[in-house]
Order: sequence, then C-alpha cells, then structure tokens
Amino acid sequence: MSIRINDLTVVGLAAGSNVEMLEKQIREFHPRLVAVWKEEAARDLAVRVQDLDVKIVSQMGGLIELARMEESDILVTAIVGMIGIRPTMEAILAGKDIALANKETLVTAGHIIMPLAKKCGVRILPVDSEHSAIFQSLNGEKEHGNKIDKILLTASGGPFRGMTREQLSQVRLEDALKHPNWVMGRKITIDSATLVNKGLEVMEAKWLFGVNQDQIQVVVHPQSVIHSMVQYEDGAIIAQLGTPDMKLPIQYALYYPERRFLRGMRLDFYKLGQMTFEAPDMDTFEGLKFALEAMRRGGNIPTIFNAANEMAVAMFLERRIAFLDIPDIIASAMEEITYIEHPSVEEILATEAAVYEWIESRW
Ligand code: MG
Repeated sequence: MSIRINDLTVVGLAAGSNVEMLEKQIREFHPRLVAVWKEEAARDLAVRVQDLDVKIVSQMGGLIELARMEESDILVTAIVGMIGIRPTMEAILAGKDIALANKETLVTAGHIIMPLAKKCGVRILPVDSEHSAIFQSLNGEKEHGNKIDKILLTASGGPFRGMTREQLSQVRLEDALKHPNWVMGRKITIDSATLVNKGLEVMEAKWLFGVNQDQIQVVVHPQSVIHSMVQYEDGAIIAQLGTPDMKLPIQYALYYPERRFLRGMRLDFYKLGQMTFEAPDMDTFEGLKFALEAMRRGGNIPTIFNAANEMAVAMFLERRIAFLDIPDIIASAMEEITYIEHPSVEEILATEAAVYEWIESRW
C-alpha cells in the first residue's frame, strides 16, 4: 500500500543512481514503481528493498514505464537534461498533467511539447520559481481574455554580478558554486553564475506562456524577493513575491489551483527595507546574450546552445576549463553545428550528440 502525504500519494519515483536516498524514500512512501537510470544501481536497489512490494526498472525504458503508469495523475519532471524529453512526451500522451522542473524539455522541444499537451488536454504546470511566479500572476486573467503585454523575468544576477570580464577570467569553481540566495544543484548554480540559466528561462517562458521573445524582459533584482511579474495592456504589473524557497512553487504546481498552508519564513517588509533593480550586463555575461541569439535563430540552435552549455559546465566542474570558456564554447558550437529549421525529437537528440562529439574533439 502506498502512503498518502496529505492527499497526495507517491506511486512512482525516479533517480539517476543515488540508491541510499531512494531506499529511504521507498521505505517512507511505498511507491509501486521505481526507475533508476543506471542498470547496476537498479540491481543494487532491488536487492536492498527485496522485502518490499516494489518494482525496480532502469534506463530509458524504465523512465517511460514510470511516466505512463496508470495510477498517476501528475508527473513531476525534475530530471536534468534533454533526457527528459521522451518520458515527458510519453506522460503527455498517457494524459498525465506535467509539473515541469526540467527546463531543457521546453528549451529544445517546446515546438513539439506544447502542441502535444494541447492536443492531449494536459496541463503543463511550471515548477521553476520564475515561471511559477508568472503563472501565479496570470491567475484568472487569461480566463477573462486579458492578454499579456510583457513578462518581466527577474534574475538575481548570480554570485558575480557587477564583475568585469577581467575579474571573471580569474574566478574559481568554489566561487561559482556560491549562489547568494538560492540553494540549488551544482549545474544550475553554475548556470546562474553565467546567466545561461536566465537565458534558458526566457526560452522556457516563451513556450509556456505563448509570448514572443520581445515580450520578455530580464530584470536583475539581487534580493530575489519578486520572483517575476506580468505587465498587462493597461500598464498594470502583477508580481509574485516571497522568500526564496522552492517548496512554494513545487506545492503550487501539485495542488493548483489550491493554496495550502506551507510552513516557513514569511516576508517581512520592515526588515527587507529595499528592493533594487538593474539591467543585465550581457556584454560581460554572454550566457544570456547567446541564449537570446539562439532563441531568435530558432530551429535546433537552442538545442546546440543547451548541449554545449551542459558539456562546458561539466568540464568546468571537472576544472578542465576556465569560467569564461563556457560562453566561448557555446558560441563556437552555435556557429559550427549544422542548422535544422524544424527538428524532430530524433534530430534534437542527434544534435545533442553532434555537439558533444564536436566539443570533445576540440577541447
Ligand atoms: Mg529559476
């Protein structure tokens, strides 16, 4: 029997290879199905939980089985990378709502995913904090026929805000891994430092909310209190504010449209004192500049941008390249890899492979 958390039941779980954590979660939540990416880890886990009634699967086949499982109503896609595209599509085809925490799926395959979701009548509910803020700021407006004039996507600016290129050329891995406001995984923390993350979010917003690129403005707001805003045609701006805590956007997606009690810090305006805003410095932080260029060129260029960044960040985390090599690698990949105007899922994945191969041969 699965365990209910309030009125949610965890029927399936997935992870890459962390079997210790999975075993703990299986013993707590009793899911029926668990997908582990690595086959060896899946075998290890199966032995650990052989006293329980749970099926362990692995690899892409396992993820797809999990995405389609009959008992589920909603799939939280929090996998890192383009590996999320196929299981997300399978879940949509099986009629599951999607709580989307995986940016790459929309960045690279938004032109396939959004029409598919519409056709299958499923909801794509954003988990990314900025997109959740936009989603919350849109509440009820669309139903009344009110159009978005502009999305104001906020950015903390990352740990290196205000630095020059000269200073950026000196930064170390340890510095890049220190985010001022949010506690996140290593890859996304580096993406915040390069502003690549903000670029991916602009692309994600375009697909999620059906707006043009020129309707999205990035606003640097170092305090991360306003999580993003929507401007309407009458000039009114609606924003969502709060302490930086991912629990809220996750819960909002899972219980939408209900708001439930959530333990945690509340915003204290007396203590906050001031909020500041500035334009992003795209000449210094080229991650955002190249993202906007990738978006403008369209086709498989966002895939090239994303794949090149994934590989470059992995190399930076291994201390094989310098911080400023990340945007350089992205820019050269965008020039070198063959352009495809309307890439299919196969072509998106082939583009990813081509980018990895090209970078490996060069660096
Ligand atoms: Mg975000």
